[in-house]
Amino acid sequence: MPRKRTLKLRCPICKKPVKSGDAEFPFCSDRCRTIDLGKWASGAYVIPSVEDADEQIREVTPEDSDEES
Ligand SMILES: [Zn+2]
Repeated sequence: MPRKRTLKLRCPICKKPVKSGDAEFPFCSDRCRTIDLGKWASGAYVIPSVEDADEQIREVTPEDSDEES
């Protein structure tokens, strides 16, 4: 049975709604896909590092408040 479900997603670059059946999915156009490739290449997306920084802040905060009281 053919899968013809259309997921409603947004282009990660310009936030325009994109259908999963579009030729440039998940981007709305070839232009946005090229922009996204450039972001990856230049290191604009560094998701693991962001998570590491968040964990470090949570570990440090309790010690700081303990010293103050
Ligand atoms: Zn776009």
